[in-house]
Amino acid sequence: MNEILNNIQKIKSRIQSACEKTGKNYEDVKLLLATKTVSADRIKTALQSGATLIGENKIQELKEKYEALKSIPHQTHFIGHLQTNKVKDVLKYANCIQSVDRMELVQKLDQRLQQEGRSLDILLQVNTSYEKSKFGADPATIVDFAKSVSKFDTLKVKGLMTIGLFSAEETKVRKCFQLLKKLNTELNELQLPNFELIELSMGMSSDLEIAIEEGATIIRVGTAIFGSRIYPDSYYWNETGNP
Ligand SMILES: *Cc1c(COP(=O)(O)O)cnc(C)c1O
Repeated sequence: MNEILNNIQKIKSRIQSACEKTGKNYEDVKLLLATKTVSADRIKTALQSGATLIGENKIQELKEKYEALKSIPHQTHFIGHLQTNKVKDVLKYANCIQSVDRMELVQKLDQRLQQEGRSLDILLQVNTSYEKSKFGADPATIVDFAKSVSKFDTLKVKGLMTIGLFSAEETKVRKCFQLLKKLNTELNELQLPNFELIELSMGMSSDLEIAIEEGATIIRVGTAIFGSRIYPDSYYWNETGNP
């Protein structure tokens, strides 16, 4: 358990160094714990040490851990691929959905939110690496997508999210984050209704420094805090959900 707290400290130092390098404020970067496959007990340890934000990829896991964690104040973001038949459930358990990437999902979310008479914070996920294996809206269509989303008053768009290219070549990874930032600036200029783009969710265990240098406000860290996972990421990132 101490291991988790040590690892969180290490991540905080990495955030601090990256901020110093580029003259950013430590307070401007939020740490989201990516808790897929992590037990509620271990998440509890992290939350009790002062972490306040977690992200889950699967509705099933969200549900299973919800009761155990609900007494500890925290926010939960949904960061995985969201099937439209899971919309009702995700709204029960998540404060924000970072992975909104297609109109079909937008329409389903709006329908349900209207029924519930409320709104929801979302981020638009962009596929900045152009990899087929990853979800996210195509950067070329993001302006049209954003314009369509802005017509739904139930959805409050707070920013953009991306998963950078997995590569040892730093320039290629950096390009993904630069693209997200550029799209964010472009969208901001449109001044769309229901858009208040304050978050750039980018950077994970291996590339968080690059993401912070390029303007990340939320980094999503799993492995570097909780250790490696039994399932490969494809289990979470492809359509079938099979490893
Ligand atoms: C798992 C996951 C992360 C965290 O990845 P690590 O490499 O374990 O830090 C971040 N974002 C998303 C969308 C994820 O699924």
